[in-house]
Amino acid sequence: MTYIVIGLTLVIVLSAYFYLKPKPAVTKNIFNAEYYRGLNYLLNNEEEKAFKIFAALMDVDSSTIETHLALGGLYRKRGEFDKAILIHQNLLSRPTLEIELKNQALYELAKDFFSAGLYDRSERIFKNLSEIKSYKNSSLEYLLKIYEVSKDWEKAIELVKSMDSIINNEKTSVLLSQYYCEISNNYNKQNQIEKSIAISKKALKTNIGCIRANYQLAKYYSKNDIGISVQYYYSIILLNKKFSKYVVSKIISLAKEIQNTGLILKTLMNISKIKEIPFIPDIYFFILYEKDKTEAMNYINSFDRKNVIDNFIITHTLASTEEHTNLNGIVHDLVNSYKNIFSSSYYFICNNCGYKSNELNWMCPSCNTWETIVPKSAIDIIVDGKNSE
Ligand SMILES: [Zn+2]
Repeated sequence: MTYIVIGLTLVIVLSAYFYLKPKPAVTKNIFNAEYYRGLNYLLNNEEEKAFKIFAALMDVDSSTIETHLALGGLYRKRGEFDKAILIHQNLLSRPTLEIELKNQALYELAKDFFSAGLYDRSERIFKNLSEIKSYKNSSLEYLLKIYEVSKDWEKAIELVKSMDSIINNEKTSVLLSQYYCEISNNYNKQNQIEKSIAISKKALKTNIGCIRANYQLAKYYSKNDIGISVQYYYSIILLNKKFSKYVVSKIISLAKEIQNTGLILKTLMNISKIKEIPFIPDIYFFILYEKDKTEAMNYINSFDRKNVIDNFIITHTLASTEEHTNLNGIVHDLVNSYKNIFSSSYYFICNNCGYKSNELNWMCPSCNTWETIVPKSAIDIIVDGKNSE
């Protein structure tokens, strides 16, 4: 590490020297072979080797602007933000720096500040750079990232509205609906349910396919209007069948709140008729206890028993029915005591990057995309594993 310290000391000393005694013009130098060797390492992802060469080059000739930029970028990649910032600020302090290189150094510095979590300073530079045509798009994308990580949803909305229809492969309507959902969530935390409902509806209006907005509305209404709550849950299944099992468990838990479970039964019967949804034990049990054995068996018979997975789950469900015949069909017991390995716990897995978690995140913490995470029960994970073999 000492050579880094020596190198940096040299940077400062030499920069001070150049500052006090500037050359006629600091322009692009003719690079030596070492510089290209370093670049090659960089292109081959051999950052460690590239880093050594650039650091050594800095010792020899600190006026080489490209070396500064390359080394600064490497420091940032290594997580040494203070050093990256120092190098880029150093470059910017040169009075003779060409405007193009100055902007490049500013852009790098803004990225350093962003990586270091100094969002205010990063925001200021990106805002200025966004006025320059060649930096506009990437600066706006960074500004959006800043507003997302600092949870400044109002600013994010304002910015997205001013941008093109696609940002980082995401539609602006998708982003807007998520930002509205975030604001709705904040109102909900402050117990301002009316405002939460209004803004979730706005999210849904912006993007009719927003699962999260439906989910929020289902939850808000579950406190005072179960009929509406069930409708929003039902919409989620229509939007993405991968949510079926999870949403069914939510709908069944609503049965705890009401005396007349007819509405829940009717909804589950409707869900049971949707094609391409695998067998869900919860639906079978609910029909069995709340209606009758014939209807429950009709549900089972609607499945092709040649499907190994469905057949396996159906067989186990029927076996556990035998064990629980003494429950006498009381729905509260069903809800409270029914623990089945097929539906009792969920993992939440990102379809985009495979990130796995125990809680439902609407933005994947790993790949930062919205609504790519779906709930999966233990059995789903086994089935997926089999399918991908
Ligand atoms: Zn992901």
